[in-house]
Amino acid sequence: MIETDVLVIGAGPAGSAASKHAALGGAEVILIDKKSEIGTPKRCAEGIYDHGLKWLGIEADPQWAVQRINGGTIIAPDRTRLSLDETVLPEKGYIIERKVFDKYMAMDAARAGAKIMVKTLAKSIMRGADDEGSFFIVDCEHIGEIIEIKARIVIAADGPESRIAKALGINSTTNLNDMMSGVQYEMVGVDCERMDLIELHLGAFANGGYAWVFPKGDDIANVGIAISSRSKKPAIDYLNEFIDSYPPLSNAKAVEINVGGDPIGGLIERIYDDNFLVCGDAAGQVDPITGGGIILGMLGGMTAGQVAAKSIKEKDYSKKRLEEYAVLYDKHTQGAIPKLKIARELFLSLNDDDLNQIVHAFVGLDYRNMDLKDVLKVFLKISPRLALKFRKLFKIIF
Ligand SMILES: Cc1cc2nc3c(=O)[nH]c(=O)nc-3n(C[C@H](O)[C@H](O)[C@H](O)COP(=O)(O)OP(=O)(O)OC[C@H]3O[C@@H](n4cnc5c(N)ncnc54)[C@H](O)[C@@H]3O)c2cc1C
Repeated sequence: MIETDVLVIGAGPAGSAASKHAALGGAEVILIDKKSEIGTPKRCAEGIYDHGLKWLGIEADPQWAVQRINGGTIIAPDRTRLSLDETVLPEKGYIIERKVFDKYMAMDAARAGAKIMVKTLAKSIMRGADDEGSFFIVDCEHIGEIIEIKARIVIAADGPESRIAKALGINSTTNLNDMMSGVQYEMVGVDCERMDLIELHLGAFANGGYAWVFPKGDDIANVGIAISSRSKKPAIDYLNEFIDSYPPLSNAKAVEINVGGDPIGGLIERIYDDNFLVCGDAAGQVDPITGGGIILGMLGGMTAGQVAAKSIKEKDYSKKRLEEYAVLYDKHTQGAIPKLKIARELFLSLNDDDLNQIVHAFVGLDYRNMDLKDVLKVFLKISPRLALKFRKLFKIIF
């Protein structure tokens, strides 16, 4: 049997962040992943923002930060383009290469002291106790062999619908209405207007979601769509229709296809228990509007790792001690996930006419010095109904 203070299950961005920070806090850490190659296959459009990297204390590395992004373009159902570029948005970001990024994050965890075990599948989890207190025994299949890992704290970072959390009686199932079905091609031969702006295409054609073109340098881009999992047709049909209808993609050819579910229903019922923490997609640490979960998940991982290390030092692995994780996560994110969930409901209530009118109204405005009141005045010009909806939303968010 292998013994450790902290066992992290899943070497995605959240699990690597948890491992790194638990190790930096002085805990003995093992990070396992069932895959033989961390980061592959990717299930991601690969967009991240600068202030997220700053929260995490990570410097962008040209090995994985492959395209600088200076803003975005919102494209209305009638294809009117609203540019939110560097002249109006202070926020910048990157399109990353997840296959390299995820591996680099795991390497950072290893450099901090974590032991990494790839091709190691956690199969079952059992509670136990000895003179030093409670622990878990996790049965794993490691390169064809069954091994046992004993850990005082287990951090589940095993992706959407965490099986590990479920095995401990925590409801990690995502309601079908809250699971977006994502599909994407990485394409070459894409004719983007600007390679440093992401494109977000809105409208009923995306059935409860949106389509995107995220440039990756040269003539390469991730072109994808996320639709409601309740859709009648498979997501790939929606994506192919979008590509056929969008002239900048008329010569684009796919070199890779990525599929995955994106849980946008908000945090699961409980993200901590005795000897146990959950982070990343497994915990629902995903932006309910964009489906982005790299930064929010890593922030969860970082916080979980820090709290786990403190608990190990204090030899207190109780639910009461580990609650600090949930409190700190809420503080770090300023309760953003529940607020964004409400905003998502509002966006879902907008039809194509509403979206067209909103985009038309904002095109050409100089919004650099606009405050919320000015924005509401624009909505009021479109319709009092929309102004009322957005006023309610702003009250909740700000
Ligand atoms: C189509 C699509 C596009 C997206 N685009 C973006 C985007 O542009 N920006 C963004 O921020 N987010 C995006 N996301 C979301 C983002 O990909 C996820 O939020 C992110 O990967 C979550 O990281 P994680 O570490 O929680 O989980 P994951 O990256 O899913 O990692 C979980 C790991 O756990 C391992 N694992 C699972 N079970 C076990 C087990 N029993 N034993 C051992 N290992 C196990 C898996 O092999 C995996 O490596 C997108 C998602 C989809 C589906």
